Amino acid sequence: MRKLPLHIWILLALVLGVAYGYVSAILGAHEHVLTFVKPIGDLFLNLLQMIAVPLVLFSLVAGVASLRDASKLARIGGKTVVLYLATTAVAITLGLLVVNLLEPGAGLSPELRDHLRSTVLAGTSSDTVERRIEAGQGIDFAAQLVNIVPKNPFASLSQGSMLQIVFFALMLGFSLTRLPDARARPVMELFDTLSDAIIAMVHLIMKIAPFGVFALMATVVASLAGMGDDMSGLSELAAEMGKYMAAVVIGLVCHALLVYLPLLRFVAKVPLLKFLRAIAPAQLLAFSSSSSGATLPVTMECVERGLGVDEEATSFVLPLGATINMDGTGLYQGVAAVFIATMYNIDLSVGQQLQIVMVAALASIGTAAVPGVGIVMLTIVLTQIGVPPEGILLIFAVDRPLDMCRTVLNVTGDATVCTVVAASEGLMGGAQAGDGVNSDVSTAGDSPAAS
Ligand code: ASP
Repeated sequence: MRKLPLHIWILLALVLGVAYGYVSAILGAHEHVLTFVKPIGDLFLNLLQMIAVPLVLFSLVAGVASLRDASKLARIGGKTVVLYLATTAVAITLGLLVVNLLEPGAGLSPELRDHLRSTVLAGTSSDTVERRIEAGQGIDFAAQLVNIVPKNPFASLSQGSMLQIVFFALMLGFSLTRLPDARARPVMELFDTLSDAIIAMVHLIMKIAPFGVFALMATVVASLAGMGDDMSGLSELAAEMGKYMAAVVIGLVCHALLVYLPLLRFVAKVPLLKFLRAIAPAQLLAFSSSSSGATLPVTMECVERGLGVDEEATSFVLPLGATINMDGTGLYQGVAAVFIATMYNIDLSVGQQLQIVMVAALASIGTAAVPGVGIVMLTIVLTQIGVPPEGILLIFAVDRPLDMCRTVLNVTGDATVCTVVAASEGLMGGAQAGDGVNSDVSTAGDSPAAS
């Protein structure tokens, strides 16, 4: 039994967690899940989040500094950014295609739509939703761009402002490459060792991952059961919501099949099964935590050890991806924007839909890699195309399961681009420790050396 790989343990925990949350909800005991089980999930998430900021800093500095050749750095950086942007634009376009084909919300008569909208808007308004709308409305793109440059990087670190941390880390890493080798080396080694130490921490934390995933899933299901009551009686709306959710999920699956699969198969030349087997722990963790930031340490481990991608690529491409690359979030924002517009009886022109591609791409870059931020950034997309941002109320109740799914695509996208960039640079085939994170957990007590 001990030899079961980690992703199987996590999968078991995920299923058991869903069952536990569901049974508790049926027995009307979901409160106890929130009181006693939720803290275990929170603890696990805190542990992962604790290492996310230092890991991004250490590994990006070490990663960039190790690319002492400026042209190589520019090449890898260029490929990474182009691939990240291109895949996100394709994802949003795909989302728009699917939502235009399925037309969720269009099945309701305009009168009924008006009625349902006012019922839902009036009925489920809550502080949480209002706070999200306010947060979205307060966002100004120009100011955000200026804000990428931190005035005080230490404040960015303490506040966990990832884009600022990434900017500072890139600058520091690059500046190290400009110092004479003898002077830069000790600092580079320090960052390298620190980043390995953090990875070793990941191994420790992952030993309790099944417990954390169980608790997270039980909590999600129990709290969704609590929210379900508010939606009762709106069965027609529920059918359209089902269509909306299906549009998001179909879009996510299509993106994986039409974009990642060919990239992996024909560009990186990595067998799909090998890829999936290697990154399964990261995908399962992304699904249960809804946070690609918290999943980052595990993604790095999976890609490095499971796929044999050189640390030179992972330490640079993956932290950057966790911060700026969110294909799943962009796709979801496209689908949600059109669905909400339909519910408001607003017909979006082709021009407006193209605008969605642009704004959602920017919004997904600015989305923090934590649960539920995609819906905050969605309010910007809505405002931009003239749809009332309060429309997020319509989809708020079903956001969590979609967040779980889009986060899986976000993480898979990062891993795919990293593999493709590494393959094109000849940075594949490094030390492959069997199953990556899996092997480490199934063989208790072995040393988690990272590189
Ligand atoms: N939860 C997503 C992530 O961490 C972001 C979002 O779409 O809300 O990748």
